[in-house]
Amino acid sequence: MSLTGKQIAIIVTSTALGLVVVLFIGVNVAASFVRRVLPSYAAVSETSQRLTDTNTQFPEIDCTPVEWRDDITRQKRYAEGLMSCLDEMWSPVVDKALDGGNLVTPYVDMRFYGDDAPILCGEGAEDYGVSFYCSRNRTIRIWTYDGFSELDLVRVATHEYGHHLQEAMGLHSQLSMLSRLEEDPWEVMLWTKRLEAQAECLSGVSANHILPNLAEESVMEDDIDIPGEDPEDTHPSQANNRMWFNRGMQEGLSSCDTWNAPESEIR
Ligand SMILES: [Zn+2]
Repeated sequence: MSLTGKQIAIIVTSTALGLVVVLFIGVNVAASFVRRVLPSYAAVSETSQRLTDTNTQFPEIDCTPVEWRDDITRQKRYAEGLMSCLDEMWSPVVDKALDGGNLVTPYVDMRFYGDDAPILCGEGAEDYGVSFYCSRNRTIRIWTYDGFSELDLVRVATHEYGHHLQEAMGLHSQLSMLSRLEEDPWEVMLWTKRLEAQAECLSGVSANHILPNLAEESVMEDDIDIPGEDPEDTHPSQANNRMWFNRGMQEGLSSCDTWNAPESEIR
């Protein structure tokens, strides 16, 4: 059988078209694979949206931690009570976002300012007297002091629990991989500020759901002890911190996508 010039042209054209289609699909599959595997800002932002773009309702919670008293043992029990409330609140959302992820309860390591405190998260990773969340051992260290109030504890505990949620979603590890690849320290600092702004927003969502009266009170108060103002700080400014807390409290979880917020709101 011999082919006419027209038939040859058709065969050549369709083969070429076929190759283009295969190449196109291949490139897209490879790109989505790369997006998932390699650290990128887009991947971090996608993970964040998996948490914040949800239609899952928070369950009704009757959160009654122990009665507040001015001693560290009681305050620790109060903080642990808060953790149970927060687990109950967030489990359905995280389960849905992760297709059945299991939210574990973070440990509370409470210290009185002036006392010794063992290194929890590695040398250089923590400053004396500053509360933090350690993702490595899922522990929240909280510093208490004379005059430390119920509201102070709720603010700190819900903020650090926000980091626990970021850890559960995989956002923490994605961001630390991404930061290791980035050479511009300013860029890395802005990402850390976005992470912190989101923890503040999640704090607003949490406080408003489990203890709405206290959350309401915190909006009135001016001198909440959250770091800020220093441009070299890894936290947003006081004003932005406050804005994110209030936003989470008033507008809910969907408002906490700090990864797509303008830079002016996270500085
Ligand atoms: Zn933080």
